[in-house]
Amino acid sequence: MAVTYRPLQELVRSNIWSLRPYSSARHEFDGEATVYVDANENPFPSLINRYPDPDQLELKSRIAEMKGIAPAHIFLGNGSDEAIDLVYRIFCEPARDKAMVCPPTYGMYSVSAAIHDVAIIEVSLSARYQLDLSKMREHFSDPHLKVIWLCSPNNPTGNLVRTDDIEQLLDEFTGLVVIDEAYIDFSSQPSWLNRLEDYPNLIVLQTFSKAWGAASLRLGMAFASSEIMGFFRKVKPPYNINGLTQERALRLLDTWEQMQKQKRIILDQRDQLMRSLASLSSVLAVHPSDANFILVKFVDAAALFSFLKTKGIVVRDRSSVTLCEDCLRITIGTPEENGLLLEAINHYYNQE
Ligand SMILES: *Cc1c(COP(=O)(O)O)cnc(C)c1O
Repeated sequence: MAVTYRPLQELVRSNIWSLRPYSSARHEFDGEATVYVDANENPFPSLINRYPDPDQLELKSRIAEMKGIAPAHIFLGNGSDEAIDLVYRIFCEPARDKAMVCPPTYGMYSVSAAIHDVAIIEVSLSARYQLDLSKMREHFSDPHLKVIWLCSPNNPTGNLVRTDDIEQLLDEFTGLVVIDEAYIDFSSQPSWLNRLEDYPNLIVLQTFSKAWGAASLRLGMAFASSEIMGFFRKVKPPYNINGLTQERALRLLDTWEQMQKQKRIILDQRDQLMRSLASLSSVLAVHPSDANFILVKFVDAAALFSFLKTKGIVVRDRSSVTLCEDCLRITIGTPEENGLLLEAINHYYNQE
């Protein structure tokens, strides 16, 4: 049984609710003209002398087609990081409101909260990296708790958050639930995008930085009700997605099949690497993964991490993170890179 969600006017900061957004030259005229002397640009043509489309209409319509969702439900950001920042700007009153995170998880939710002077409530995941719903519930009656951040598949643990648990949260929490799906393209489970219509308080984040192989583009996506997306549009910097990124992203969308092929190789490599590592006596656990990385528990991870660095191999040391003691996070590389990594790990433990 779903609760009644707090109305948006209660969730959105009052200054944002009443904000009159900046209206750019490109907003005030959107037809075709022969002479553009409205935006103080340099008139001599080059690929970059004009301001880009502030609404990214062409790109959004292609993404809409690919995702099977209307453009009004899409926000494009300068990486997902911009979408994370906007959630705080729109919904969280500095020095008053709060957000909840479930560590171990992606660090930006807390960093961005600190930037906005928004308090963070931490409710750790269980030993199996699932939600502790009863502890989370203890805070649901706090009127200042506006946002719950979930990450599925989760970084750095790699696992999916159980669907039933997320459904319970969405049914019970009266504020906003954000599900960060940066790794969803690697997952065997469908995206929560399909459930947007069921849950008006749901925001889904995705990105071109991982499976799409375009981290340098800085292009992230947020999906939500058109009402929520309206606030994202109102608050974002007018030209947040530059013209080169929009153009390159349109070409990138034509490479969907190549992305699928690369993904299959990465997943195959992941499973091989997991098996090889699991067979080593110095490996204490290889955690299940629905992403393009694995979290692995080693005997003395910090020492292994330093050794790998001397061999020119950089993994992510997560050994000081809650519930990740002695764990390294390893991104799946090319077959060659994974071979070198495995060889170095074998070498390290055999020389002892
Ligand atoms: C990598 C990652 C992102 C991507 O951020 P971008 O700003 O889009 O590059 C978002 N969330 C999580 C959990 C990630 O691991």
